[in-house]
Amino acid sequence: MTFETSIESLPNTSSITIRKFKSLGINTYYDLLNYFPNRYEDYSLITKINKIQVGETVTITGKIVEAKNQYTRSRVTIQKVVVKDDTGTIEINWFNQPYLIGLFKTGELISVAGNIKLFGSKILLEPKEYEVGIQRIHTGRLVPIYPEKKGLSTKTTRQKIDSIVKQISNTGYQVCETLPKELISLNNLMGEEMAYKTIHFPDSRSMADKARERLAFDELFYIQLANDQVKKEWKDEQVKNKFELNDNYELLIKRFIDELPFKLTIDQKKVIKEIISDLKKISPMNRFLQGDVGSGKTIVAAIACYLSFLNGYLSLIMAPTEILANQHYESIKQLFYKYKNIRVVLITGSTKNQNLQDQIDKAHIVIGTHALLSKKNHFKKVGLVVIDEQHRFGVNQRAVLKEKTLNPHLLTMTATPIPRTVALTLYGELDQSYIEEMPKGRQLIKTFLIPKNKRNDGYRWIKKQIKIEGAQVFIVCPLIEESETETLKSVKAVKIEFESIKNIFPEFRLGLLHGKIKSAEKQKIMSDFKDHKIDILLSTPVVEVGIDIPGATIMIIEGAERFGLAQLHQLRGRVGRSDKQSYCLLFSENLSEKTIKRLNFFCKNNLGVRLAEFDLQNRGAGNIFGTEQHGFVNLKIANLADFELISKTKKAVEYFVGKYKIEEWEELEKAIEKYKGEKISRD
Ligand code: ADP
Ligand code: MG
Repeated sequence: MTFETSIESLPNTSSITIRKFKSLGINTYYDLLNYFPNRYEDYSLITKINKIQVGETVTITGKIVEAKNQYTRSRVTIQKVVVKDDTGTIEINWFNQPYLIGLFKTGELISVAGNIKLFGSKILLEPKEYEVGIQRIHTGRLVPIYPEKKGLSTKTTRQKIDSIVKQISNTGYQVCETLPKELISLNNLMGEEMAYKTIHFPDSRSMADKARERLAFDELFYIQLANDQVKKEWKDEQVKNKFELNDNYELLIKRFIDELPFKLTIDQKKVIKEIISDLKKISPMNRFLQGDVGSGKTIVAAIACYLSFLNGYLSLIMAPTEILANQHYESIKQLFYKYKNIRVVLITGSTKNQNLQDQIDKAHIVIGTHALLSKKNHFKKVGLVVIDEQHRFGVNQRAVLKEKTLNPHLLTMTATPIPRTVALTLYGELDQSYIEEMPKGRQLIKTFLIPKNKRNDGYRWIKKQIKIEGAQVFIVCPLIEESETETLKSVKAVKIEFESIKNIFPEFRLGLLHGKIKSAEKQKIMSDFKDHKIDILLSTPVVEVGIDIPGATIMIIEGAERFGLAQLHQLRGRVGRSDKQSYCLLFSENLSEKTIKRLNFFCKNNLGVRLAEFDLQNRGAGNIFGTEQHGFVNLKIANLADFELISKTKKAVEYFVGKYKIEEWEELEKAIEKYKGEKISRD
């Protein structure tokens, strides 16, 4: 065996189980060994039957002296099993698993782990796990509990992993160390082979912790080293179309900025400087710009496009949705409206294909969705690609660009607040820019938490705001199912909600928006809302990214407790886009003390990054981006809130690249290869 051995070689394993593993992306022994337990059950207390005490969790081992199905009137079947060791007997009951009796032959040895309970005057063992014989895989030890996905039971997973661990021991297969010895001793790490065995079958909790630390160290080390390598590879590349910044261009850019109806913020100026300095280089820019909703990223991108235009190149701007692409088109056109010689073109799924190529050929700025690249469009002389609302533009997408013989400067932007430590760890291959300061004169959005008993007051207040102030209202409902996209069930739920909202607000014009509505209709609804033909727009979180409706001043979020703070923040950012006071009301029926604390923190804080950091500390990394994980490396074991380990591994990477060449570390090179490839985007 090796790490690369296919899981099809697992002994005594049905094709169904193999298929289930594969559907989880587990194809090799290595993959399976990297499927880590969430936690352990402690069945390590092995007792003689006469020593058991009520309330204990124990493992007992003995001979089966009786095993039979007992049928009850209530259709429950009881599997009644009596086990005897040299000190006594105990009865164990399973329920509704009649097949067990076929497995339990009298006279055979069995180990059972479970809780000792008193039923009336009878002491019973309430079984949690069993195994025939004394294998000590499922009982009599700290037993690993695996995530149960795709119908894979934790017991099956455990058994298969045990079989690999045993094969490693029996064949003398050496699990290779990927890290240099000094790093292991400097960081006081457990050896790799030991860590793999121990994480699954630890002798103690402290050993399990050590194993976890080692494997988490590996993971963070690989990610950061992979990023470092990618960054170096990109440095060695050359853009196809080089930029120049002569005095004349500089003057024109200055004029463009001076003509804006507002003054740039200090952060905007700083970022523009960073970008221009990148654009002057021969190696491609790979910059990641993070800034809250409304912080003014578009103008920064526009200036980069302008320099691209001055150099005679085409710029592409890509957004994740058609609505956003439309919006970019409107605002970019607006920004350049005095510049009749700059042609801005919008291409989306709804664009007629007539003369498309001709339009592209004549354009200076092409705006569209990400499909722009996958279509059969040809782009000549692309100088710059701007990607909005995405965390990362990865290696794979760069490859797509290259296939189109493009190797342009790249600017990716996101309004998703990402804690800096996280961004630097996960996106270390990108140069990072931040706009933290909001343009002057922005009003803070007043945010309130509305508990169940205040709901009607809330509705009354909203009605007044619509009638007297002409306010426009967003109502966002959470997806009722945890899923990346909207399921039919979720859509149905939002439709039901829509009916009840109609009853509450019969006097107003309502609109409904969800993911299953066709794109053209969606745009019609959005533009109706923008033109104030709709007072209240009910929607699922699909409207999350970047919509600009200046007239909307009230954001209602239903089921607020179900959203991460960063996501709530994005939703809140849909309002407060004019000089009018805006409001955000969090409706929640389900308020625990912890939720109240979280949501109150949200009410009092307006900086996205602070909110993301709060969630990272309090709810873990999984919640930073809600259920979506777009473009986000799925960490297998490391915790992004573990700043100490992040900093340790960062130092280790610096040490490594300062001292060694990756080519001389074959195993390590193999290990990080995957992390280079994983940098794919949300689509
Ligand atoms: P986002 O970062 O969310 O993409 P936008 O670029 O859409 O934000 O900017 C939001 C609004 O703020 C736009 O209407 C834009 O014209 C305006 N804006 C941008 N920069 C400034 C500034 N420095 N001062 C005032 N308004 C600005
Ligand atoms: Mg934007």
